[in-house]
Amino acid sequence: MLFRSTRGQDCHKTFEEILLAGLASDGGLFIPEKWPQVDLKAIKKCKSFVEIAHHIVPLFTDSSYTQEEVKEIVESTWHDFKSKNLIEIHNFDNNVFVAELFHGPTAAFKDFGLQLCAAFFNTALKKKKKTAIVLGATSGDTGSAAIDACKHYDSIKTFILLPKGNMTEIQRRQMTTVDQSNVCVIDIDGTFDDCQDIVKYAFQSKQFLRPNQELLAVNSINWVRIIGQICYYFFIAMKINQFSKPLNFSIPTGNFGNVFACYSAYKMGLPINKILISVNKNDILHKFFDKNDYSKTSVHETLSPSMDITVASNFERLIFDFFLNSNPIKCKELFDNFPNSSISFSHNAWQNAKQLFHSVSISDDRTISIISKIYKDFDYLVDPHTAVGMAATSLFTDVNLGTTVVLATAHPGKFPDTMKLSGISNIPTHHKLSGLLEKKEKSVSLEANKDKVLRFIADNNL
Ligand SMILES: *Cc1c(COP(=O)(O)O)cnc(C)c1O
Repeated sequence: MLFRSTRGQDCHKTFEEILLAGLASDGGLFIPEKWPQVDLKAIKKCKSFVEIAHHIVPLFTDSSYTQEEVKEIVESTWHDFKSKNLIEIHNFDNNVFVAELFHGPTAAFKDFGLQLCAAFFNTALKKKKKTAIVLGATSGDTGSAAIDACKHYDSIKTFILLPKGNMTEIQRRQMTTVDQSNVCVIDIDGTFDDCQDIVKYAFQSKQFLRPNQELLAVNSINWVRIIGQICYYFFIAMKINQFSKPLNFSIPTGNFGNVFACYSAYKMGLPINKILISVNKNDILHKFFDKNDYSKTSVHETLSPSMDITVASNFERLIFDFFLNSNPIKCKELFDNFPNSSISFSHNAWQNAKQLFHSVSISDDRTISIISKIYKDFDYLVDPHTAVGMAATSLFTDVNLGTTVVLATAHPGKFPDTMKLSGISNIPTHHKLSGLLEKKEKSVSLEANKDKVLRFIADNNL
């Protein structure tokens, strides 16, 4: 199975090529040339998440790695989770389930994708006798999950740029308290966009790399992250009803990565009724599904900061696969003109999308009232991102779609201030978050100057 770019230039790429490249050379995103199909009967016999991953991951990697190699990687990938189960499923009533994806080391679902990504980085580097710099910008949970996933590998040095702004102290400390020589956190005196510009510039320049060294990206367009996430959709459905009836998934989303993983699972044979796209006030996706208008606006800071985005980068994959029937020429044209021209489709094509997708946009006030109501009525605590996803369920709307699974993307302990705003003081602990406030922080401060940041990375390379 090979991969191609949504914009047409790169095609027939192997798994290892797209793993190391991140973005395609034409600025597009990589996507499988054909959707592999999953044998549900075989998966039904699986007892654990990892067993399911043994079926799913090799479907994407056979162009570069043997079954044996992948088996070894999958066996050793997901570490530091609270229990061997990795995911716990909470049942409100027969109609509403919550899949807790936050039991990993950084208390957010991103551990699933990034740990798999780092494990494949390590394997590829070892085979090629190379080292790598991992460089990323973060405004939320990506940085900590990337740091935690990569810190185990000596061949990788991770640099994460942190903007000033909307991040909780816990989220920040998850990155700055990792005391390891192959991890470096850089405070940038600027915005998230400034940080992203520096990262983009670094990927063009690459001058700071040593011989035999790769520059690797961990942002959400990385296909390996999607693979790690596809696995849990199959696992959750198997646990809930053994694939006997199509489920709805409500997914709190920003960059559309987690939603695209759900769509991928659907394309690979998972029975799904509806995919509910749940967003905060940053509602570019809701405006598209509600009004057929995908247009960039400015960012709003909300109580669910990991979903504060202006464009949903992975949405390009859906546009390519679903709306454009895999036509890269049309896709390139749309994105060459975006964001100057907004994106919309024919009325029919757009209506057709509603058979599978439904969207909601939730304010901060509503987020808080949902957190307090769930706590009062069910004695259960959701974080602000998960609360956005809860809004689409029959607990909070009259639209009853049947059994719905909300993805709990982060642990509530990461957001103590929002919990207080919701009138909750008794916050459960997470096995990896306790003690963070006492640990010593370590980071470097730099101005938002591309050349200065790159010089710093060169001077502090492996
Ligand atoms: C990253 C993140 C999201 C958004 O995920 P996407 O894949 O970008 O849609 C939602 N919730 C939490 C807690 C996150 O960290």
